[in-house]
Amino acid sequence: MNANYLQTPITYLKGVGPNRAETLQSELGIQTYQDLLNLFPNRYIDKTQYYKIGQLQRSNADVQIVGKIINIKTVEQKKGTRLVAKFIDDTGEMELVWFRGQKWIRENLKLNTPYVIFGKCNWYNGKISMPHPETELQANHDQGLKIAMQPIYPSTEKLSNKGITNRAISKLIQQLFMDTKGEFSETLSDGILHELKLLPKSDALFNIHFPKNQELLAKAQFRLKFEELFYIQMQLIAKNMLHKKKIKGFNFDQVGELFNEFYKDHLPFELTGAQKRVIKEIRTDLGSNAQMNRLLQGDVGSGKTIVAVMIMLLAIDNGYQACLMAPTEILANQHYLGIKELLDKIGISCSLLTGSVKKSVRKIIHEQLESGELHILIGTHALLEDKVQYKNLGLAIIDEQHRFGVAQRSKLWHKNEFPPHILVMTATPIPRTLAMSLYGDLDISVIDELPPDRKPIKTVHRYDSNRLKVFQFIRDEIKKGRQIYIVYPLIQESEALDYKDLMDGYESIARDFPLPDYQISIVHGQMKPADKDFEMARFVKGETQIMVATTVIEVGVNVLNASVMIIESAERFGLSQLHQLRGRVGRGADQSFCILMTSHKLSNEAKTRLETMVRTNDGFEIAEVDLKLRGPGDIMGTQQSGVLNLKIADIVKDNDILKTARYYAIRLLKNDLVMEKPDNLVIRHAYAQLVKYKNIWNYIS
Ligand code: ADP
Ligand code: MG
Repeated sequence: MNANYLQTPITYLKGVGPNRAETLQSELGIQTYQDLLNLFPNRYIDKTQYYKIGQLQRSNADVQIVGKIINIKTVEQKKGTRLVAKFIDDTGEMELVWFRGQKWIRENLKLNTPYVIFGKCNWYNGKISMPHPETELQANHDQGLKIAMQPIYPSTEKLSNKGITNRAISKLIQQLFMDTKGEFSETLSDGILHELKLLPKSDALFNIHFPKNQELLAKAQFRLKFEELFYIQMQLIAKNMLHKKKIKGFNFDQVGELFNEFYKDHLPFELTGAQKRVIKEIRTDLGSNAQMNRLLQGDVGSGKTIVAVMIMLLAIDNGYQACLMAPTEILANQHYLGIKELLDKIGISCSLLTGSVKKSVRKIIHEQLESGELHILIGTHALLEDKVQYKNLGLAIIDEQHRFGVAQRSKLWHKNEFPPHILVMTATPIPRTLAMSLYGDLDISVIDELPPDRKPIKTVHRYDSNRLKVFQFIRDEIKKGRQIYIVYPLIQESEALDYKDLMDGYESIARDFPLPDYQISIVHGQMKPADKDFEMARFVKGETQIMVATTVIEVGVNVLNASVMIIESAERFGLSQLHQLRGRVGRGADQSFCILMTSHKLSNEAKTRLETMVRTNDGFEIAEVDLKLRGPGDIMGTQQSGVLNLKIADIVKDNDILKTARYYAIRLLKNDLVMEKPDNLVIRHAYAQLVKYKNIWNYIS
């Protein structure tokens, strides 16, 4: 059947009225025949096997047994009754038990007639019983459509309440196969089908819904997973390649005076090998005549800022302006102070633009930007306002990518007649598989080496009941001249509660660490920016020893002398956030510590998170665990949730298929970017359909 036919609204399918259509749409997002066809089962029940009662094993697998009911009785129990039937075959006996629907079952079950039953068994006192079995007369069973592996489709409570059971869905899909005669147009080229020995599309769809056996099911799954991942890669890679071809970028062909002078005379330290390599990769992009779109990944503290500075110098060397955008005011401010100090040495002008910059100052910045007098602008989202016009923005650097959506990324783009080069920096290490899927349209550089002389942070997990010891530890560290962070959770939905926790915590800390020996700063989201900055500044200057804060300090804050990070209610934080927070310490030469405080009540997942934090400092390893725990949907944080809403493939489990798909997509596009070779026409057609109905951005944003 051709692809247009499959766009028919689902209401046209026999068995689907307006009510059902609405429920299918709201619960499963099914609007068209195509959507129904692509509703893939979550799992299958193997009905190829029949068991004898005498050979049943104590497992929790579903089993299928042929036998007879020889008697049936109602048994009184503490609350209500249960219906018990004695079921036998030639090897033994067992009980079938019902708690619900007893009357109907009693009236309909036939005694001494062969039945095929199906369900899970319980063992008790040597007796086997099966609660609420599926029962079917053997005579009917033998006549019915033989579906060896019964598919189980995704379901919701509302679906079952409305009678759209698994069986009902299976029937609708059968109807669809009847209407289409089970013929669906091929979406992969002969070449690929042949090389990878893939099932043809129609066979794959048939066997995913009505598998004939395990082997065909496995083949069907492989084919469809490959196809799904292949077309995502095709879109990402095609975008990247077309981009490089079409989107001309400013050519930074000069490695000029500023860059060299800074490198020779003003670098505060020797660059790590990884920093040097990354700068080189970026420089190659900038001189390639195409617009750069690069993601720079580097763990917390790996030294991305200095890379940003040197790249900005390249822009200025070539006569362009540069901007650096950060997700919070605190971070923008800190970048500004740090970078200004470096740039002052070589006479480069740099300004800060955030929401709290005064109008009069803003006006000056706007003017200087337009005249070109200002070389570098650092700030928050305020940089995206329409009033901000550059003379010639050549480079935009975005720090901490995960806080920005795709839309914002492209907004910077459109500031100019030509798009500036874009460098996105993130400290959230993204597992390679996910990076490939999410940012396949970006090039990726990785700083995978920390500056030397860093001592690994020691991380421990402590229960609230050990608080006194922890406080003593804090006192000892302060005595040594160190500074301490104490961080409380901040979760949007319960801001009031979090605020109370923070304030309670603050008061208790203020009691245990009294003036005048101890000075405490406090920073949280409900403070005015000026007050926040004031408190931050006191901590940065070392006037306070303890910083009590919510996660506003999560990103980027850099106080070398702070060597202890205490995270309260650590079980409430996600792994990447814990890792980010821990990264606030361990920046100086002192031994640093991270203490994860929790209550005794911990979910298994929380335990895994805490154990992972205690075990390793490696951001990539942590990201892999995070991906496994949470799945790709959550990994990028709330702003990009729903990421990669895959129908059948699994980014974690199908890693190998993803790599294969990526390899084939790259090979195809490298040889035939516009997909015009005869063998690729089928792919071109499928690709066009896909982009028309399901653009890649549906997966991502
Ligand atoms: P992040 O990648 O988290 O943004 P930063 O750029 O803030 O990391 O760097 C963390 C700290 O490491 C800063 O104090 C910075 O000056 C220092 N640093 C960066 N690169 C090096 C290096 N090659 N050698 C020594 N210290 C470095
Ligand atoms: Mg940083």
